[in-house]
Amino acid sequence: MLVPLYQEEDNVAPLCERLFAVLSAMDCSFEVIAIDDGSRDQTLKHLQAEATKRPELKVISLRRNYGQTAAMMAGIDHASGEIIVTIDADLQNDPEDIPALVAKLKEGYGVVSGWRQHRQDAAIRRTLISQVANRIISWTSGVYLRDYGCTLKAYRADILKGIRLYGEMHRFIPIYASWMGAPITEMPVRHHPRRFGQSKYGLERIGKVILDLMVVKFLERYFVKPIYVFGAFGLVSMVLSGMSFAAMLYLRLIKDVSMILTPLPLLTVLFFLVGVMGILMGLLAEALVRTYYESQGRAAYLIRKTVNFGPARPRQD
Ligand code: UDP
Ligand code: MG
Repeated sequence: MLVPLYQEEDNVAPLCERLFAVLSAMDCSFEVIAIDDGSRDQTLKHLQAEATKRPELKVISLRRNYGQTAAMMAGIDHASGEIIVTIDADLQNDPEDIPALVAKLKEGYGVVSGWRQHRQDAAIRRTLISQVANRIISWTSGVYLRDYGCTLKAYRADILKGIRLYGEMHRFIPIYASWMGAPITEMPVRHHPRRFGQSKYGLERIGKVILDLMVVKFLERYFVKPIYVFGAFGLVSMVLSGMSFAAMLYLRLIKDVSMILTPLPLLTVLFFLVGVMGILMGLLAEALVRTYYESQGRAAYLIRKTVNFGPARPRQD
């Protein structure tokens, strides 16, 4: 279990209460990793108090507020189980749903994502926007989920271990997982209004999510060959420049219109420069990517498993 907490002092006790009730009733060993994301209230203190009572509760305290994604990364790096379940600290998700998620995961999925079917947040400002966002994310990534934003999700640990996340990207883990070939699914979970504390996010998150989506898409499709993006852009621009130049010559030589009277010379030069810059940036990006892969001994592929190669070697990174 991973729980990120930021300024959630009043939620610590009820959260531990409910979480441990559910987890102890499941017949498997478990750990709860609570990541205090640099809270300036009593969150850490309350967590420490709980941890003295509950040996399965492990606490990581980050030095400052790094954000939910970084907090989750810290938890993933420290988790030791085969299955990792993430949940919010504010009890908007229901710990009672965990056993069902885990059972579903054991059917052979890599990720089981919660779907807040009856969402208890502000109707338009949160729920509607999030529905639109889910459509866009599904469409862009080709991985169809109805609720990317739901933090209550269960993962096979080996899928999470290789992933590096930045910004608002924790919600995109299912996309990575699916691209890595893991089967993913979703199931309805309960959702409750927040009782203590406030939401840590406002509308600025929309912009961040959109930009992060572009990064994810770019990295997955073109990280190995960035010049395909920059270069294509550059070539299109060059073609436009050529067309504008041709139109300019046509008007000047055949129709005898003065070049000064049209915007064509300007367009020709503009498109030409943008095209050259695009291609040069593509080359630059290629050089960067080479450095990335070759300096760190990274391969441009991920291996699921090997057979008869002898004992598994630890990853080098
Ligand atoms: N959170 C965090 N670091 C942050 C912001 C949020 O660890 O910088 C945690 C927060 O404590 C909560 C979870 O992330 O457990 C989700 O936050 P919140 O409930 O505010 O988001 P919402 O449910 O409103 O989308
Ligand atoms: Mg919440």
